[in-house]
Amino acid sequence: MRWPRHIGEPAPGAFRRRIRQQTIQGVLRRGKYLVLPLSDACLLVHLKMSGDLVVVPSDSPAGRFDRTVLHLQSGWDLRFSDARKFGRLFLVTDPSPRLGALGPDPLDEAFTPEALHHRLTAHRRALKPLLMDQSFVAGLGNIYTDEALHLAHLHPLLPSHRLGTEDARRLWNGIRETLQEGLRRNGSSIDWVYRGGEYQNHFRVYQRGGEPCPVCGTPIERIVQAQRSTHFCPRCQPEPRGVG
Ligand SMILES: [Zn+2]
Repeated sequence: MRWPRHIGEPAPGAFRRRIRQQTIQGVLRRGKYLVLPLSDACLLVHLKMSGDLVVVPSDSPAGRFDRTVLHLQSGWDLRFSDARKFGRLFLVTDPSPRLGALGPDPLDEAFTPEALHHRLTAHRRALKPLLMDQSFVAGLGNIYTDEALHLAHLHPLLPSHRLGTEDARRLWNGIRETLQEGLRRNGSSIDWVYRGGEYQNHFRVYQRGGEPCPVCGTPIERIVQAQRSTHFCPRCQPEPRGVG
């Protein structure tokens, strides 16, 4: 452990003792968490902005941002590196208290357009902050929400209960398409810290304020919503009546 504050649970000393001799039984994902079931516990990893998990030979030189190193059998390391230090590791007996609060995963088969519509109409919140609320759907952050709303032709301030079935279907499609493209392109590298992805070269609206919309050419607008930047096309995503 080179920076024990990465350990969210339990205390760093207990984490080190308890994780020894465990077997990694799989690698799953739930929302923004990576889930590694172990033989007698569960390791949860949240990468946040710049975290990265890599498996490398143990004799590889230490990376500048390696924070926690797990020595595996047969001369391999599982290294957690993180330039910005927001990432966290949790070693838990039961992951459900942490994961149970998450909403449905958009890539799950049970997440249907009808299920999304049902959830949307149960709230009266603006679409952007609602979609970023991990208890509503799990896995969408600022970038993917802006991109999904543009694909769906929906304004970020539109109150969720006003969406019809066709709107919900477009949103469902936009969310899934955006996440799948992000996965295909290894995510987004928005600054120098994480350079693995290339989705940033395909943003339609995110951080493109003033540049032309790829659909209609209208300059992309930027507003601030819940302290976060929101980017949208005022023509493709017309402002709903009575808000804004
Ligand atoms: Zn447009």
